[in-house]
Formats: sequence, structure tokens, C-alpha cells
Amino acid sequence: MKKTYLLTPGPTQIPESVSSIFARPIIHHRTPAFQAIFDDVRGNLKYLFQTKQDVLVLTCTGTGGMDAAVSNLFRRGDKVLVVNGGKFGERWTKIALAYGLAPIELKVENGEAIEPSQLEALAQVNPDARAVLFQASETSTGVRMPTQEICRIAKSAGMLSVCDAITACGVFDLPMDDWGIDVLITGSQKALMIPPGLAMIALSEKAWAMTESCDLPHFYFDLPKERKAQAKGQTAWTPAISLLQGLQESLRLLKEEGLHNVFRRHELLAKATRNAVAALGLELLAKKAPSTAVTAVRLPASIKDGKAVPKLMRDKYGVTIVGGQDELEGKIIRLSHFGYVDRFDITTGISCLELVLNELGHKVELGKGVGAVLKTFAEG
Ligand SMILES: *Cc1c(COP(=O)(O)O)cnc(C)c1O
Repeated sequence: MKKTYLLTPGPTQIPESVSSIFARPIIHHRTPAFQAIFDDVRGNLKYLFQTKQDVLVLTCTGTGGMDAAVSNLFRRGDKVLVVNGGKFGERWTKIALAYGLAPIELKVENGEAIEPSQLEALAQVNPDARAVLFQASETSTGVRMPTQEICRIAKSAGMLSVCDAITACGVFDLPMDDWGIDVLITGSQKALMIPPGLAMIALSEKAWAMTESCDLPHFYFDLPKERKAQAKGQTAWTPAISLLQGLQESLRLLKEEGLHNVFRRHELLAKATRNAVAALGLELLAKKAPSTAVTAVRLPASIKDGKAVPKLMRDKYGVTIVGGQDELEGKIIRLSHFGYVDRFDITTGISCLELVLNELGHKVELGKGVGAVLKTFAEG
């Protein structure tokens, strides 16, 4: 017998009160019953995004939300600045190129956040750029980018700030209206604790105004059309009805805990994880600005096959974490601690890591990381 534990940065674990909803009979979406659910969801999404704007729900994963943002905002040939700190930053560039934009990258080393002055300098030499596209939390490296500063710089340069908050929204504080985030995007299988299949996106007034001059091709993701439909409690196309029912429950759970308590829980879990990493003599990839969503850990040189670490954790012990992608493949592991995660998920994850490091020939004192985790929790 082996229990399984999911500690990945999406999909994340699903609370039972959410998953039980998916066994219900399907309802039709052009009905008062659906409309009541959707109205409740739309209200609570404003709470989650900390905005007065409409938060639109799209049937797609997070990348679809990024795609929709680009294809609804810009004009062919538009110059955009992209903060590229890893796999997801790179995705902004790829989407921009797919639509014939001219992305200019601010490339940062894996594990580093940008310095605001770097972006300021890039904006200065590219005053005609129309937007800054970035990640609030770069999931591939576990880095938290300075969102508030990025938005401030974009605004003063007359550019739009377009924020992929897919592992940030509902993880740490990201007040859309207060910080002047023009476009905020998230996805369902991350902090929202439901299966993949929904993206959520909100636009500022300035961003809505930009959609009017957009000349890029799009059909399925037509944000002005969605905005009109969703204001009436409907969607342009058939919505993912069951996922929306799950979302209603997960938003209720987030609200019940209180958004700021959710952020504090993630901070504590991230801190416990980092303390365990230090106690085990391992090194963080993101030293200066670690995200509270996911902790990326450099694997020691004594482990010859880095990919064996997550593999053994999963296959032998049932604990699923992820490794690195592209040039970080086999070099790091990433432990996620957001969503439906509590103290004993982290305790379990670290204890499994200790066993596996030993088995793969990197000797650590058993219980050392776990001790650091428990000490962090005891101190609160
Ligand atoms: C998960 C994730 C995405 C979206 O990925 P999908 O596979 O389309 O859901 C985008 N950006 C970040 C930062 C993510 O963590």
C-alpha cells in the first residue's frame, strides 16, 4: 500500500469538498441555476484579484489566458518588453512572436529577479514599446519578480503592465487596482485548487481601451465579447460548467480562510521548506527573491543523475514533486507549497527528500531537514 502526495506547482491538490462536486449531474448553462453560481464566482474573483474590474473566466489553461491577452491588446509589429527569467518568461516571447509582435527581452539569469533599474533602462531606450509582459512568480526558477516596481516603471513609461500571475494570484499579495496592474492572469490548477481547464483574466480601463485598436487575429478568445456576455451572467461559448462549480467552492474556501491568512500560510510553508534546505546543506536556486509558491533547490554534485530524485520520490514513496526544465533539467528539484497544502504536506515532502538523497548516495543526517521544518512551525 502506498499513499500519494502531490507537491507540484500545478496541478495542485484538490480539497474533497471541491472534488466531490465533479460527481454531480451536469446542469445546463443557460439557466438561473448556472447564473447564480456564475454570479457568485464573478463576485469572489474580484475579491481574489483585489479589483473593481470584471474578472473574465475563459475555458483553457493558463497559457490560453496569456494568448488571449496578447491577441486582444496589440497591433501587428508592436514592440513589447518581456521580462524573461525562465521558461514562462520565454513563453511570453513565443506568444508575442506568434502574433507578429516585436518582443524585446530583458533576460535574467535563472534564479535571479530583475533589478528595477534594468527595466527602467530598457524602457528608456525603447520608448515606443507598448507594454511590459512579465511573471509575478517565475515557476521554473522559484523567483518572485518585483511586480509593484515593474508596474510603476511601465506606467511612468506609458506602457501597459501585463502580469502572468498564474502561480502568484492567491499565493501572495498582488492587489491589482492598488498596484496598477493593467492585465492580471491566473489559471485554475494552481492556487485555485481545481483541475486544469480555466483561465481568469482582468483588464484595467487602460487595457480595455487598448483592445479597441487591436488588429491581431482572434476568434475564440474575444475579450470584449466575453466581457459583454459575462456581465449578463453568461459566457460567449459553452463554459466548463463543472469546473465553474468547483471554482465556486474553492473561492468560498479561500474567502473563508481569508486572503491574507492564505498568504501567511504560504509564507510559513515556504519558510519551513527553505529552512529545511539550509539544514540539509543544500542550496536554493533563488537566493535573493524566492517565491512563496515554489522552492527550487540545486541538487548536490554528488548526485550524478538529478532526474532520479523526483523519480524515486514518486515511484518508491508516492511523493510527486518536479525537477527542472531545459538547461535546469537534472540540476534542480522544485517543491511546491501553495494551494491546498498544509504543514504536514511539507513535513512529508522533506522527509521523503531526506530518504531519497541518502539512497542516491548523498548522505544527509536523517531528520535534520524535518527538524528544521517542525522548528519553523513551532515558532509559528
Ligand atoms: C502553470 C503556469 C502557466 C500556464 O501553464 P498551463 O500549462 O497553460 O496551465 C503560465 N505561467 C506560469 C508562471 C505558470 O506557473
